Amino acid sequence: MSLSGKTAIITGSNSGLGLGIARAFAAEGIDVVLNSFTDTEEDHALAAEIAEEHGVTARYIKADMSKGNEARGLIEAAGACDILVNNAGIQHVAPVDEFPADKWDAIIAINLSSAFHTTAAALPMMRKAGWGRVVNIASAHGLRASPYKSAYVAAKHGIVGLTKTVALECAQEPITCNAICPGYVLTPIIEKQLPDQMKTHNMDRETVLREVILVKQPSREFATIEQVAGAALFLCSPHGDQIRGTTISLDGGWTAS
Ligand code: NAD
Repeated sequence: MSLSGKTAIITGSNSGLGLGIARAFAAEGIDVVLNSFTDTEEDHALAAEIAEEHGVTARYIKADMSKGNEARGLIEAAGACDILVNNAGIQHVAPVDEFPADKWDAIIAINLSSAFHTTAAALPMMRKAGWGRVVNIASAHGLRASPYKSAYVAAKHGIVGLTKTVALECAQEPITCNAICPGYVLTPIIEKQLPDQMKTHNMDRETVLREVILVKQPSREFATIEQVAGAALFLCSPHGDQIRGTTISLDGGWTAS
């Protein structure tokens, strides 16, 4: 079955993995909705560029995933949702007893609760269309913990739980829900952590990447945006029909031990 003509909404897709997934989907003829909370000229230009390059409909819709009503509003504004990729995410690193409460709330809202709201709004559309895919971008941190990332690890474990529950609720329908668990991918969310890590460890960029960031990843290589996008496309293909409520790890062996 061709995915051409389906509509995919990808939350948090003006950079990094979300944008890469949108590009890969558009290359398969899927109409895409880009999203972020920023609403800049660049955001709209990205959508126009994708539409031009791949001959699909590509729209940018502003919605702040920290707000439940805006997350639901994104799906409603799009008007159709065959494929939902819950990707928006932020990070903050601090010991749990010093973790700022507002950062905790923001991470839980953006990385976890937004997926509840978008999924709740999208399922009736998928049921009406008689087909649907929910792909949640979790993380190796949905399966394993690291110190100083309490909110992120809690949110990502939470989204794995949400994934399983939604999959079971849709088990007798042509609608699947799965999570992709990448290890480290060199995107802005990682780039932003590098200056602090370089300072803390008194290391240059390359040493931090190799000895601090990639230390958890036995392959000592980053996963790529294209690999994550490829996994998302696989889940949306007919090969994914009976893949339900599970996690696909792309983590260089991180969770093998
Ligand atoms: P990124 O910083 O490039 O992307 C984050 C995206 O979320 C951006 O498009 C940003 O605009 C959007 N966003 C942030 N706050 C938002 C809000 N309030 N409302 C709407 N959009 C918002 O980083 P990324 O690595 O591409 O991260 C994408 C997802 O992948 C995240 O959920 C992240 O946790 C997950 N992930 C990343 C890695 C990695 O190593 N890069 C590994 C595992 C999982």
